[in-house]
Amino acid sequence: MMKCPVCGEDCVQYAHELLDTLDTVFSPCPACTPRILDKQKPLPADAVIVEACTCEKRFIDDVFVEVYSIMVQEGLLAASSPLRDAGIPLVHPGFAMTQPPYLPRNSLLLLSHHVDKKTADRLMREVPELRGVVKCGDFTPGAADVDLTAPPRVYELLAGCDVRADIFYTQHSPVILYKQQSLTHIEFPRGYDPKIVSVGVHLRHTMPKVFVDASSGVGTLGILGAISGVRHVILNDAWYAAAYWSAYNVEVNREHLLVEPVRFLKEYGELQEHPVVKEPLKVAEAEGAQKIEVYQGDFRRLGQVIPKEKSLLAVIDLFRKSDPEVNRRILQEWQERVGGEAFIP
Ligand SMILES: [Zn+2]
Ligand SMILES: [Zn+2]
Repeated sequence: MMKCPVCGEDCVQYAHELLDTLDTVFSPCPACTPRILDKQKPLPADAVIVEACTCEKRFIDDVFVEVYSIMVQEGLLAASSPLRDAGIPLVHPGFAMTQPPYLPRNSLLLLSHHVDKKTADRLMREVPELRGVVKCGDFTPGAADVDLTAPPRVYELLAGCDVRADIFYTQHSPVILYKQQSLTHIEFPRGYDPKIVSVGVHLRHTMPKVFVDASSGVGTLGILGAISGVRHVILNDAWYAAAYWSAYNVEVNREHLLVEPVRFLKEYGELQEHPVVKEPLKVAEAEGAQKIEVYQGDFRRLGQVIPKEKSLLAVIDLFRKSDPEVNRRILQEWQERVGGEAFIP
């Protein structure tokens, strides 16, 4: 069992342990009943708080009603506020679902603009489905600036633990991606992810000896490369939380890879001391029939640490890729400084 680096508890599971639960984790028992509410409207005056079913699950809207009611009682929301103002519910694990979930204990992370510490503590005491409460803002957490000039901003974990996983389906096995949500942008797995498809196509075409996920986030595309069988995979991100969770997720998904356990060269706490770095710093590595390395650093400087290899494919997954001029510049910089083939998915 892997310990969670945020809360120190067992809130992280290996890939198969988590995948084994998916068929049933959010499904109702015959006695469970849904109550679908309009999130654009305030809570109806006659609405009551519904307790969990005897199976200990509760429909997500019913959980949300309790959260909302507590926030109204604490004066954080007006009784006229629409329900959705209580916050963004993120389930753990997150995956493409065909119907809204019935939540077991400890399966929901709440991100809210309006919550404070006192209320977050109360929510954790009174709402068993919650695993953590985060105060969020109108920005994307982490180092979203490609030139690493702006200081990164993060949300604040107020209570509980904000580590959760999303599951992405690939041509090969599903990939489990843990993250500390207050430090990471929100993703909603939909079962079909164009980036995953695009990377799969590039990998099949080029069959590279080395695959670099240059801006890895929590590791999605690099791990996809490793699962696809590339011999040497390098993941890199300038943001410490991304680099760390990339390494962590290699370990979580290791059962589908040909490597020995991941060796962490840095602890989470150590990395926190320098949230963004430019010079490549090796965070973790795993060796076996495959080799996987994880760096924290500016991808433009990766040429210092990766082999001069003609058969190299790099994916550069930028946050802001709406600007074709920025894309051209990034790809050109990569060619000049690192080399090999590179693409933006
Ligand atoms: Zn935890
Ligand atoms: Zn039930």
